[in-house]
Amino acid sequence: METKKISIVVPCYNEEEVLPLFYTEITRVMGEIQKEHSDTEFELLFINDGSQDRTLLHLRELAQKDTRVRYVSFSRNFGKEAGMYAGMENATGDYVVIMDADLQHPPAFLPQMYNYVLSGEYDCATTRRISRKGEPKLLSWFSRKFYKIINKISQTEIVDGAQDFRFMTRKMVDSILSMKEYNRFSKGIFSWVGFRTKYIEYENVERAAGTSTWSFWKLFRYALEGFFAFSTAPLTISSVLGFVSCMVAFIMIIVIIIKKLVFGDPVQGFATLICAIFLMGGLQLFCTGISAQYLAKTYLETKKRPIYLVQETEEDVRKKAEKLQAE
Ligand code: UDP
Ligand code: MG
Repeated sequence: METKKISIVVPCYNEEEVLPLFYTEITRVMGEIQKEHSDTEFELLFINDGSQDRTLLHLRELAQKDTRVRYVSFSRNFGKEAGMYAGMENATGDYVVIMDADLQHPPAFLPQMYNYVLSGEYDCATTRRISRKGEPKLLSWFSRKFYKIINKISQTEIVDGAQDFRFMTRKMVDSILSMKEYNRFSKGIFSWVGFRTKYIEYENVERAAGTSTWSFWKLFRYALEGFFAFSTAPLTISSVLGFVSCMVAFIMIIVIIIKKLVFGDPVQGFATLICAIFLMGGLQLFCTGISAQYLAKTYLETKKRPIYLVQETEEDVRKKAEKLQAE
């Protein structure tokens, strides 16, 4: 019987508190899956995204006592997007799962997701939050607005409530890996590559321990990333704004000339003039700013910098242990 390997990729940033809980839970679920499908093996691939706490020590320990555990440790914090990319790139499985370490992506969903993908009808199974319980009200409001706007202006559909909790086939993972852009917005990338996706709906779960590193500003910047990565509508908006204000100014000039020539009105309106100058100046800065955003992204892309850099992997600790034993 041919065995199938499932790689479980887990990006971790300062997760020392939840790692033991996560490990216990995931190994339990892995056992459950193996009971049902005896031809399945696992690989647990942790990505240490430059944690400042004892996450790396925990990972070294896990890798030494469990051969299914692998890890890639970054040279600094590169962000979750880089973590997911590194995980997919280093995973060797026929199927790849991406999930958070904080148990907000319940491992209990895995058997069900596996069955969907095994059925051959889907290339990807993922969860969708239907509630945002436990999240600040203001944040939920902004999130909903974000999805509404981005889905209006971008051709790529970005599903509200969709998450980075994914069970994917090798085919889909390779397609995602073929997108080597530096400015990564996974929510868009997942849907841009297409493939048949099964959404499993569920209620939001709160973090098992530790704290979320996503502040309001970080999320706001991430949302902007989404706009600029998956839509050029802001560029169009700036051109339209520029055109409309030019037209308005043109009409105003004609009106003033006619008033002066035909009715002999003395030209007045110091206040209006100042307003117009400010309005035009503001509009110009606004539009230049939008173009600059795209320019900046292009600039970073042309540098072709690596998405992440590795400091150590599980092979290093295993080699060290072997050396010690040989001595
Ligand atoms: N994470 C990461 N790098 C970062 C920030 C977060 O790898 O710079 C990981 C984190 O360890 C967790 C997942 O991404 O496994 C989700 O992070 P978090 O729970 O803080 O976000 P939230 O669930 O609040 O969206
Ligand atoms: Mg979380």
